Amino acid sequence: MGREVRRVPIDFDWPLNKVWQGFLSPDRFDEDKCPDCTSGYSPRAQNLYDLWYGKIPFDPTTTGSKPWQPDTPAIRARAERNIADAPDFYGSGEHAIAREAQRLADHFNSGWLHHLNQEDVNALLDAGRLRDFTHRWSEETRKLEKIDPPAKPSAAEVNEWSLSGLGHDGINAHIVIRARCAREGVDDTCATCDGHSTLEKYEGQRAEAEAWEQTDPPKGDGWQLWETVSEGSPVSPVFASADGLAEWMSDPERGDRWVPQEVAAKFIADGWAPSFVGSSQTGLVSGVEWSGTRED
Ligand SMILES: [Zn+2]
Repeated sequence: MGREVRRVPIDFDWPLNKVWQGFLSPDRFDEDKCPDCTSGYSPRAQNLYDLWYGKIPFDPTTTGSKPWQPDTPAIRARAERNIADAPDFYGSGEHAIAREAQRLADHFNSGWLHHLNQEDVNALLDAGRLRDFTHRWSEETRKLEKIDPPAKPSAAEVNEWSLSGLGHDGINAHIVIRARCAREGVDDTCATCDGHSTLEKYEGQRAEAEAWEQTDPPKGDGWQLWETVSEGSPVSPVFASADGLAEWMSDPERGDRWVPQEVAAKFIADGWAPSFVGSSQTGLVSGVEWSGTRED
């Protein structure tokens, strides 16, 4: 992620700031969208996914979970914190807290992810998730250690934990959805596309795409600056010498990209620099400057 020098033919002629074609997977590898799914899930798994995130109406009682109430301690505490943190936004006083608590309760009641049952929780434990419950930081070994005997958090504990900032990620959603489908005896994967969410335009297309490798631009005697923030594109003219490129890089007319010529020369000798580098001596400087000023 930064700038690099490439040696290309003097007459190399690829538009500036346009990603080199050899770096991009060709359009012919684009597959058709699967007509029967959006993300590779079976209809039931998609339905569960929508319930998980509350994209369709969800009823907490369907999982045997108690709906959150404005006076549930975890909800109430969070509402008080929100009010205290942003009184300008929420207003203040009991009325504001009560209103915020109701909003939070409604919000957390709208998705399955805050209303797991014990089978859902066990599926996550079996998959090695929920480390906030199953692991503890050890000062002795300086890493997370599994609690022994293994922790067995209840669904209520996990659901309260899910109200916190971090909570469940997409991997947890996937694990719980798959386990639920397995318990119901239904497939979790779209049968039409086998979970790819796309279909090959012709047989062997996917294998071809996997076998595809990117090709570098041609090599030659010229010197050119490339950015590597995208897949990679040239950002300077091609110069016949390293000095020519260094001069171009240090041209004050080029505004914020200006670096002293000896710095540019050192960078070119190194061949590469990250976009930005921070150090205690220099603070945040452009990577080119850093590369050119550091001692090897
Ligand atoms: Zn599909």
